[in-house]
Amino acid sequence: MIKILSESTINRIAAGEVIERPASVIKELVENSIDAGATTINIILEQAGKNLIIISDDGIGMSPEDLELAVQRHTTSKLDEENLENISSFGFRGEALPSISSISKITITSRLRESSKAYSLSQIGGKNSKLEQASHDLGTKTEIRDLFFATPARLKFLRTDKTELAACVDVIKKLALSHPHVSFSASHDNKTFLKVKGDSREKNLAVQKRILDIVGNDFMSNNAELNLTRDTINIYGFASLPNYHKSSLEDQHLFVNNRPVKDKILNMAVRSAYADYLESGRYPVIVLFLDIDPLDVDVNVHPAKSEVRFSDPNLIRSLIVSAIKDAISSNYVNSNVETSPLGYFGNKAKYSYLSSNLPNSSFNRTFTGPKDNSSSLNEQSYNNPKAFTLPLLDFPSNKQDNTALEITVDNCVYENFALGSAKAQLKDYIFSQTLNGFIVLNWRVASEKLCYEKIKQSLNDNKLTKERLAMPEVVELTEEEIITICHAKQYLSKLGLSIKKFGNKALIISEIPTLVAKINIFQLVKNLSNYLSNKELGEDLEVFEEYVIKTYAEQYSKHIDKLSISEMNQMLRNIEQSSFFKAKDHVGLIYAELKITDIEKFFKSN
Ligand code: ADP
Ligand code: MG
Repeated sequence: MIKILSESTINRIAAGEVIERPASVIKELVENSIDAGATTINIILEQAGKNLIIISDDGIGMSPEDLELAVQRHTTSKLDEENLENISSFGFRGEALPSISSISKITITSRLRESSKAYSLSQIGGKNSKLEQASHDLGTKTEIRDLFFATPARLKFLRTDKTELAACVDVIKKLALSHPHVSFSASHDNKTFLKVKGDSREKNLAVQKRILDIVGNDFMSNNAELNLTRDTINIYGFASLPNYHKSSLEDQHLFVNNRPVKDKILNMAVRSAYADYLESGRYPVIVLFLDIDPLDVDVNVHPAKSEVRFSDPNLIRSLIVSAIKDAISSNYVNSNVETSPLGYFGNKAKYSYLSSNLPNSSFNRTFTGPKDNSSSLNEQSYNNPKAFTLPLLDFPSNKQDNTALEITVDNCVYENFALGSAKAQLKDYIFSQTLNGFIVLNWRVASEKLCYEKIKQSLNDNKLTKERLAMPEVVELTEEEIITICHAKQYLSKLGLSIKKFGNKALIISEIPTLVAKINIFQLVKNLSNYLSNKELGEDLEVFEEYVIKTYAEQYSKHIDKLSISEMNQMLRNIEQSSFFKAKDHVGLIYAELKITDIEKFFKSN
């Protein structure tokens, strides 16, 4: 038997689509307030909105006739039926209020701007409509109590208060971000958690101020401004620099024509723009506004209107990726320019935030190291800019000498040191003068040994520092090589090398031990894959570890080319402090001493 459904049943079914959780009610009601021209919106929540949601605004208000119509289905003041495709207001189906009222206890109190009288209308589960005169100052106040009381099955689907509240906060943040000219305040269980003042300046300035208020100062100091216009498409906003990231998607706010959206294409575009920069599990912070001709986007796909459909998704994807990438690369400068083949001398702040994109000069600053980082090897050294000031291969007992070295380098006084005072470099050899002769030292072999010893030591002490590469290295390999390397991913990460698969034919290396940050990474990875393809990993991890450290050391010594006198002296002092030198372990392979007596003997015998 075919039955005609009652109005309240139809509304409850519709509510199932539009109203999923307290956050959806907030979204619908606040959008109504904005459509009503409100400049101040106040939100009160109790028990994550499950108990009570009150939204009040200072908008145009409603007459008693409007109030009665508003809670009926398909009544709206907003839709121009001649022009269904061009929708500029938020609501347009006239579904929200009847849906909400069918599943809750609602009271709407409102005063039309030009009227002296206010009225309130209440309903319980969409029934027992009661309209009466009320005292109300300005605009509209909508109170929703006991949401879902009429649909116990849905009530059961609600998550914990914590999760529901987080969803409410997210919705409120997004609404506030997209309406910077409106003042918002919001409280939960009597505690205010958000209060922002409307800004009447031009849009971009107001948006910047609002982002600062909502997302925070740290983000504003570590971001790049997005600004790209192509035909009728405009992308505007701010995206975090690669050094600033979070462990959740919490602060990714994407808007299409000022509507908060959850859209796969946009999310993927953001993800791929950062693929080179961020490890999996780390998420950028972004506030992005995409403005597009309403004819090229369908916001009507889902009643809750957070999904959209683009007429040309590929174009949108590629524009977003390039807007983000361009912004990042022009704002993010790897200041670790190699000025000395030995690197790491002096103050080496890894990231430098050069040009501030904000008019306010208080945002200009130099960034001295990543803030929020998940390095497992040595958090401390990451967060402490001083970690970058340690000289290369600094052996603990050698600190005093290093300082002296930099000052006295020109009139060298190292003749009484075991390895003397450096005078010249000839290919792989350093010539240094001692008190009674000359030393010829193979610095390539020595630096390899030094590097090996230093890395070994830091691994033993659990103090290996690694460095996040500002421009991660993409290494192209065969599919087989990639599989082989990925098998060893975990072990390599313990050895300071963070590797991520990048498609089937490439790897991204995003982190490497600080000491060897300048080596030829391609060669390193290639060597490792050769080694691994001939060996079964897992048989002997120690042997593998040994091989990796040796390869680091080998590549390290290879990357050095020309040495300055002061660098040569630095290296000689480091060798003197090393345990292989102290233990006289193979030092004969590293240097030979030519005493003045030997020289004299040589000339005399001729
Ligand atoms: P829609 O927003 O799709 O039009 P709603 O059910 O959300 O449908 O609202 C129905 C109507 O009630 C709106 O078209 C508007 O005329 C009126 N209305 C709702 N909320 C407000 C408000 N806060 N201020 C003034 N009018 C409102
Ligand atoms: Mg609406």
